[in-house]
Amino acid sequence: MVPLIDPFDRPISYLRVSVTDRCDLRCVYCMAEDMTFLPKREVLSLEELDRLCSAFVGLGVRKLRLTGGEPLVRRDVMWLIRRLGRHLDTGALDELTLTTNATQLNKHAADLHAAGVRRINVSLDTLDPQKFQDITRWGKLDQVKAGLAAAQRAGLAIKINLVALRGVNDDEFDDMIAWCGSNGFDLTIIEVMPMGDIGGETRVDQYMPLSLVRAKIARRWTLADIDYQTGGPARYTRIRETGGRLGFITPLTHNFCESCNRVRLTCTGTLFMCLGQDDAADLRAPLRASEDDQHLVAAIREAVTRKPKGHDFIIDRRQSRPAVARHMSTTGG
Ligand code: SAM
Ligand code: SF4
Repeated sequence: MVPLIDPFDRPISYLRVSVTDRCDLRCVYCMAEDMTFLPKREVLSLEELDRLCSAFVGLGVRKLRLTGGEPLVRRDVMWLIRRLGRHLDTGALDELTLTTNATQLNKHAADLHAAGVRRINVSLDTLDPQKFQDITRWGKLDQVKAGLAAAQRAGLAIKINLVALRGVNDDEFDDMIAWCGSNGFDLTIIEVMPMGDIGGETRVDQYMPLSLVRAKIARRWTLADIDYQTGGPARYTRIRETGGRLGFITPLTHNFCESCNRVRLTCTGTLFMCLGQDDAADLRAPLRASEDDQHLVAAIREAVTRKPKGHDFIIDRRQSRPAVARHMSTTGG
């Protein structure tokens, strides 16, 4: 099998799959309050998603991340996760993981572990119940905490993802680091990205460069750069006082595209070769055209030849429109 290598010599070994564009929350930086979601008939069935993901595994993808929208609100998603787990058993896949808001984790944590999931990313931007409700528009922090507790009981390693929001959670980094340290969670801080219309708010108001965040954190904590890699774009440090890892994802202040190893699939079977560009390939048509994977594999290989060098995200007052029109929930964070 010839591996998937893009025009800039980057091997493609990581697939992120948005299994649904729907979500039970409406985080202010991610979605508008009155989002229009895809009609169900446009969304691939779970069997089709399994076939698509498995084709990528056959082409050398070693890591699969299910995301969304909220992956755990898709009906019967555990069926898909269990099915994909067979690639862990054969050794074809190194890791099957997901990014979740944790609202449904209480119900699913044990099954996730049984299906072979060992690490999950949980998005949590604040430890203050009122702020949590404000950021997510109606979420309940207690539900997320119950989900996290269930995940810990099930033996899942947890990384918290926090989007730095100016004037919203920028007074909480120290508390979050201490809380993650005492619970044994890693933490990654993310810059807000200009993706999709979010209604009245603007990203210029939300955006906080992580260079500032890091400087703020370094006043209280001792950070040592480390080589740790998860196959994602974060750069990691070790916090001496807690022993925990702290990652920074800085798409705006430090472009990480040179080491990009991933492509992203939407729940309609559209493949995006870059989170921050519009070019895409339709994999649904070749998937449905025949029962064998010949057309599908050819379409995947062709798409990878179009993977661009990188994104062009900018957030400033002159550039108030999103860099790409689709929301993060379409291609998955
Ligand atoms: N619903 C799940 C969750 O929240 O973890 C998975 C999907 S969500 C789109 C994935 C990640 O994208 C979350 O960590 C979220 O905070 C992040 N995200 C969403 N919109 C973003 C934006 N405009 N800029 C930066 N991160 C964003
Ligand atoms: Fe939903 Fe995740 Fe977007 Fe929040 S960040 S609205 S939880 S998809």
